[in-house]
Amino acid sequence: MTDNSIGFIGIGNMGSPMAANLCRAGRSVHVYDLDPERARGFCDQNNAATPAASLEALGKNTGVVVTMLPNGNNVRQVMLEQDGGLAQYLAPGSLVIDMSSSDPIGTRELGKALHKQDITLVDAPVSGGVPGARDATLAIMIGSDDPAASARAMPVLQIMGKRLFETGPLGSGHAMKSLNNYVAAAGFAAASEALVIGKRFGLDPAVMVQILNVSTGRNFSTEHSIGPHVLEQAYASGFALALLVKDVRIAADLARGLDMDMPFTQLASAQYQAALDYLGQGSDFTESYRYWEDGAATRN
Ligand code: NAD
Repeated sequence: MTDNSIGFIGIGNMGSPMAANLCRAGRSVHVYDLDPERARGFCDQNNAATPAASLEALGKNTGVVVTMLPNGNNVRQVMLEQDGGLAQYLAPGSLVIDMSSSDPIGTRELGKALHKQDITLVDAPVSGGVPGARDATLAIMIGSDDPAASARAMPVLQIMGKRLFETGPLGSGHAMKSLNNYVAAAGFAAASEALVIGKRFGLDPAVMVQILNVSTGRNFSTEHSIGPHVLEQAYASGFALALLVKDVRIAADLARGLDMDMPFTQLASAQYQAALDYLGQGSDFTESYRYWEDGAATRN
């Protein structure tokens, strides 16, 4: 078995375009998703992809596995519990690359459990959203305790991303990713509150966004999220609010676990959780603007 054959688990908003890039690069991709229709649909559109009927089938056909699942608990379930756990079907010496935005502490624990079975875990979460996944321009943050494993992961990651960073030991990529998403979430919340205040005062929100984008208040949200998704009321960035809530919670827990008092981080975590409670599980993260616009924050 060569590294040309790759297992890909989690064919969702991000996993689907990322796995498609592996196919386009000539890799043979074995695809598994809890939703078999999704895996089949993906394979119908990508000749180099084969749906794996089970984790056992996937494990017996690949020595390198990429996971792109909602959270670290899902990754742990897939590796150790679901259908008896993929780990038992993988050959010794296999490599697992977790590209999900997982909790770094859980990642370290999973790494130890897999190491006992001679499987190496590398964390490689991404930033750049669905457009970055489609264009293969993702930023990738790589954590690993094993330089040989990182070197083996690199050619696979280079197909999906453009800017690759080795952040340190296992879990460091996941820690970095949660901190990035906290900063992004804080920028979106600040821009949302500013728009709501400005509108009440009589400012035109479209003009506000134009000014922010050529001024010091500019951030990723003002440039890419507020205009197309909030002003146009499309709320369709492809990044679920529930996933952002998870990421900001990971960052807040990281600070707490390090005995640090970081009030903005805790406040952002509480506010986004309240926004999710207000808007419901299916909402896109950009819809959280409505939490501030509707004045729901003041009712909590
Ligand atoms: P998604 O919900 O669209 O996709 C997740 C996929 O995993 C689904 O197809 C689901 O059926 C599958 N799945 C869930 N549990 C499973 C299991 N136990 N076994 C097999 N398959 C399972 O999520 P997404 O937006 O693609 O995000 C995936 C990860 O990437 C998350 O950790 C997210 O935080 C992160 N991320 C998302 C974005 C984005 O813009 N969407 C950007 C960067 C990072």
